[in-house]
Amino acid sequence: MAAACIFCKIIKGDIPSMKIFESDKTFAFLDISPLSKGHALVIPKFHGAKLHDIPDDQLNEILPVAKKIALAVGADDYNILQNNGRIAHQVVDHVHFHIIPKPNEKEGLS
Ligand code: 5GP
Ligand code: ZN
Repeated sequence: MAAACIFCKIIKGDIPSMKIFESDKTFAFLDISPLSKGHALVIPKFHGAKLHDIPDDQLNEILPVAKKIALAVGADDYNILQNNGRIAHQVVDHVHFHIIPKPNEKEGLS
């Protein structure tokens, strides 16, 4: 936990979030500024800014949870995105994986 980290505060419940999933080492919630309907974030509870800061055993639920969320929101097409560092467009310095559904534009689901 890092006292000043907004995602650590979300994990603790000090900042409210739309929680989707929680286990002893993984947390998932809806993004506050969604790029599409169902845009979610999956994070390790272990605080680290970049992927290489997180121990392997704290990462092993991330992709299975991302898969479940993609299935749950009915996203056939979607992006999984994980930014590391400012040049790579990272804004929040707690590792997070975006799940961004790509709705069929013809169906107007976004
Ligand atoms: P990054 O650019 O660091 O990969 O993405 C950070 C993401 O965190 C952004 O999509 C942003 O909307 C989301 N975010 C930032 N602050 C909050 C917050 O307080 N609550 C939630 N749910 N999402 C947040
Ligand atoms: Zn943190």
